[in-house]
Amino acid sequence: MNATQGPVPAEYEPIAGPPGRIELTSAQLHGRACVVCGSERDSLTAAGHAYTCTGDGGRLGWPVKACARHVRRLDGGETAA
Ligand SMILES: [Zn+2]
Repeated sequence: MNATQGPVPAEYEPIAGPPGRIELTSAQLHGRACVVCGSERDSLTAAGHAYTCTGDGGRLGWPVKACARHVRRLDGGETAA
């Protein structure tokens, strides 16, 4: 794994809901921080996958995580307004 500096552009596909383009830090890609807010404190739960470009046209998939607050919203579980 080469050390990339700063956030990298990625395509995020949540468990539920539409995919979107976001920028992710190394910690977020490795599931050490919430994919939405970057928090490393809350307990993190699996929240779909993010895909980055490998440079040779390929896509690299990362199992990302979200904090308790955000994973609920991504699941579409509790979307009370
Ligand atoms: Zn979060």
